[in-house]
Amino acid sequence: METYAEKNSSTYHNNGNAEVKPIDQNTRQYQPTPRYKWVLVPRALFWMLYLHVGGLYGLYLLLFVASPKTLIWTYLCGYLGQMGTWCGVHRLWSHRSYKAKLPLRIMLMIFFAMSDQGVILNWARDHRGHHKFVDTDADTHNSKRGFFFSHMGWLFIRKHPEVSAKGKLIDMSDIEADTVAVFQRQYYIPLLLFFAFWLPAFVPYYFWNESGWVAWHTATLCRLLCTIHATFFINSAAHMWGTRPYDKTIRPTETLFVSILTNGEGWHNYHHVFPWDYRAAELGNHVFNHSKMWIDFFSRIGLAYELKTASDAMIRKRVLRTGDGSKTAHECTITDFSSETDHCWGWDDPDMRVEDIEGVNVIRPLVA
Ligand SMILES: [Zn+2]
Ligand SMILES: [Zn+2]
Repeated sequence: METYAEKNSSTYHNNGNAEVKPIDQNTRQYQPTPRYKWVLVPRALFWMLYLHVGGLYGLYLLLFVASPKTLIWTYLCGYLGQMGTWCGVHRLWSHRSYKAKLPLRIMLMIFFAMSDQGVILNWARDHRGHHKFVDTDADTHNSKRGFFFSHMGWLFIRKHPEVSAKGKLIDMSDIEADTVAVFQRQYYIPLLLFFAFWLPAFVPYYFWNESGWVAWHTATLCRLLCTIHATFFINSAAHMWGTRPYDKTIRPTETLFVSILTNGEGWHNYHHVFPWDYRAAELGNHVFNHSKMWIDFFSRIGLAYELKTASDAMIRKRVLRTGDGSKTAHECTITDFSSETDHCWGWDDPDMRVEDIEGVNVIRPLVA
């Protein structure tokens, strides 16, 4: 199969950087592409403004006014939304790090709809692009543009032209052929309105007589505010602060507090090196890795299969070859933004290294 690099041999160098221009070779500082003009997206701006004001007010209500049942329900809805995002659109649909049978895919799609994070296809395309062209203009939330841009600023402006130009080159045929993802795309608005907004507020109102006002601001707005910021920290903090035990030449880091906030997505240096590993973390880092725990559970009951993991030998080799020399907490100063290996977005990326494919462990292959 023709690889991405071959298809784009004229522009593909420096690991997916469309041009070397964005990094000043003398200062090693990111230089914004001059032709990229910021165009505001007012709808996103107003929604975020409302969500922040309403969500912070909801936090006050949650702590001082709402019933304890509403507090537990709000947490539960947030937790399920996160699992839909991490077990579903992230590890399953974006990275193909395991496979899931129809009932599990439907469940994950519903949980993902609760999180108000868009259409599965679009999320996965952006995320594959994020891995493939990490921290370049073709990366939706390029962390070289600073903390705020990578955290949430990218939502407020139109995407860099490189994002859609390079995004079109990523194979999305697997998701376009997935009936559950197609259904979610087709019925996106009703699913969103029902699962993300209406249901979380209706349950406290109906079942334990919480006021509609309190239920809306807590279980809907406050919950969404907390979970989106937890997600945003992966693109900002986990691309800036922490260690790089697996590859010091890339920006993603191992960040404990992001792992706690997201129930297991902060082992981000590992995840960028082995995006097709369903654990998204090396063994031993699983205390907060609830997504892995749930995928293991679904595998045991036969709903998840072909769970891919990097072998210990493969990880050790990579740590010795490109790690920052420390698997605990040590500062790492990046002096070179170029990496020696091509990035890949996950399993089935045509640019996957042969030794990675050969060294992968597959847990519970589907028995016909
Ligand atoms: Zn990342
Ligand atoms: Zn990822």
